[in-house]
Amino acid sequence: MITIRTYYFPETMEAAYEKLTERRNNAVIGGGGYLKLGSKAIGTAVDLSNLGLDYIKEEEKSFEIGAMTTFAGMMLHEGLNQHFNNLFQRAIEDIVGMQLKNMVTIGATIYSRYGFSDFLTALLVTTTKVKLYKGGWISLNEFLENGPKERDIVEKISIEKTKGFYSFQDLRGSSSDYSILNLALSKEGDHYRVALGARPGRAKLAVKTMAFLEGKELSEEHMEKAGEVLTKEMVFGTNGRGSKEYRRAMGKVLLKKALQEGSIHED
Ligand SMILES: Cc1cc2nc3c(=O)[nH]c(=O)nc-3n(C[C@H](O)[C@H](O)[C@H](O)COP(=O)(O)OP(=O)(O)OC[C@H]3O[C@@H](n4cnc5c(N)ncnc54)[C@H](O)[C@@H]3O)c2cc1C
Repeated sequence: MITIRTYYFPETMEAAYEKLTERRNNAVIGGGGYLKLGSKAIGTAVDLSNLGLDYIKEEEKSFEIGAMTTFAGMMLHEGLNQHFNNLFQRAIEDIVGMQLKNMVTIGATIYSRYGFSDFLTALLVTTTKVKLYKGGWISLNEFLENGPKERDIVEKISIEKTKGFYSFQDLRGSSSDYSILNLALSKEGDHYRVALGARPGRAKLAVKTMAFLEGKELSEEHMEKAGEVLTKEMVFGTNGRGSKEYRRAMGKVLLKKALQEGSIHED
């Protein structure tokens, strides 16, 4: 069970940051979904609800999305669904139920860099930048690889409106379980992006697979070969949900499904 000594609603980002960094045991509260599962003793909970960070703004070249935007907000946004052919809807729809989706936030998910995350795998095949209050703008890929330089707060993200095809594939014991493995793919012109998550390590771009696929015609042979490149370059592990051998075998299957969806989309 978590305990919270004081609850604080800052009116500015600076006040939130100051309070967060005042003591080691102070913590930002997003939706509170994941924090509640733990047993942290929090000094001051810094709740970002009053900072107007729950928004999705569609601009000419990008979507700007506040850190307190919920998974439900992402999943149901018409502009995002149209532009990214339901990528986020697919990645979010099987996560527990609607109550949880109405609560959990994108800022917390990004900052925490959870290995099991479905959302982060999907986001990684788009061109996304993360705005950290102190650290400034950083690419999502770099943030997932290295984390923040110092304690920080995710304020918003910006997703470029690139034209293309997007697919999300996952493998679960049953809907609403955590993913055993997940994969997202995007294709913009001849250029592919492939991300694999829940390996069980955090989502990572499969750069050799992406280079192999560049400009290739999607024949059966090329799809098979891409699967081999993918399973060679990525690190898989074992946990309670699946063994590394199983994950390795399934990585190929998820990639082929995503590529097949892509080739149907082009026909
Ligand atoms: C029961 C349950 C099942 C889940 N199943 C899945 C699943 O199947 N797939 C999946 O992808 N995800 C799953 N999730 C995770 C969920 O999608 C969120 O990623 C997670 O709950 C974090 O969001 P939150 O808003 O609840 O964070 P919180 O619990 O509020 O915070 C989590 C951490 O992030 C920090 N934090 C919060 N906001 C910020 C911010 N703006 N900047 C910096 N730090 C911040 C907090 O201090 C804390 O350390 C599940 C969560 C729960 C509770």
